[in-house]
Amino acid sequence: MKIFYSEEHRNHYPPYEVFDGGKRVEYFENPDRMDRILSALGKTDWAELTEPEDFGLDPILAVHDKEYINFLASCWTEWLASDPEIAATPERHAFLPATFALRRKTRPTSSLHGRGGYYMMDLSACIVAGTYKAALASANCALSAASSSFTLQNSSFALCRPPGHHAGKDYAGGYCFINNASVAANRLSSKGKVALLDIDYHGGNGTQDIFYERSDVFTISIHGDPDYEYPHYTGFADETGAGAGLGFHRNFPLPKDTGDEGYLAALDDALEMIRKFAPNHLVLSTGMDTFDGDPLGKFHVTREGFAEIGKRIAGLKLPTAIIMEGGYANEALGTNVTTLLENFK
Ligand SMILES: [Zn+2]
Repeated sequence: MKIFYSEEHRNHYPPYEVFDGGKRVEYFENPDRMDRILSALGKTDWAELTEPEDFGLDPILAVHDKEYINFLASCWTEWLASDPEIAATPERHAFLPATFALRRKTRPTSSLHGRGGYYMMDLSACIVAGTYKAALASANCALSAASSSFTLQNSSFALCRPPGHHAGKDYAGGYCFINNASVAANRLSSKGKVALLDIDYHGGNGTQDIFYERSDVFTISIHGDPDYEYPHYTGFADETGAGAGLGFHRNFPLPKDTGDEGYLAALDDALEMIRKFAPNHLVLSTGMDTFDGDPLGKFHVTREGFAEIGKRIAGLKLPTAIIMEGGYANEALGTNVTTLLENFK
């Protein structure tokens, strides 16, 4: 199986994030996650590590707002230029806004912090020197996986970091900057019907935002109920699309402490909907934070659960671009990923 991976992600490693209650903690979404997955892939006889192609900005601008992408590109250098103290010790800092724009009756303003609050939805999508390039390389991994799985009509894996499913048309959030899975799904949509299934523990709000009014990409997310879990304000069961997209988005918000059995029941319902939609291609947003003991999750999916999840999704027998999203139980992450992937080789 082709695994698309770029070392560029290492340059995106913010020195901290601000956690619930204002706690300053080490960055959960860290390069060690990739090392664990690479190590597990290295022990298999089927993983073929490949550099991504560069597709340029066009496929990214096809789903994201241009001014938002410009903001990602220049944020760090603008910030350093604005503050000599930060420019003197850049490794100790990460750009974060302190004010967030309400999404009603607001507009981006010209100041950097004004744009920060407008284009970022929370305090986890910290921007540092290497962020923009890492996000582009991550999107290229997803595009390469889409291209490869379409051409070869098989499945491939994009080992993306930073992840993407929380990034909306014009905002970053939840460690995500460019919505890798959406960029890939949008590109595939020119060649046929696409289903995008998101199995990360957290609701795929960005993906929902991007395709909400479209009927050619059917999006489904299975996740912790936003009533108790991040991203809090979207991902409810009654959000099913709008306009031409009405009926082409589905959310499966699940209760705390969901284990293998409850998860697989929801997955079966989701897979039945995908079968009815009869897509030509599947994009799988793959988060491993449903795992029992993940520091950012409240589910109890086991390794055997991941094997079964992989088996049932692979049972759709669709060419699949598998896109890495979250998963923070680093010690188990590599094996969990290979356990799922093995079903698609
Ligand atoms: Zn997640």
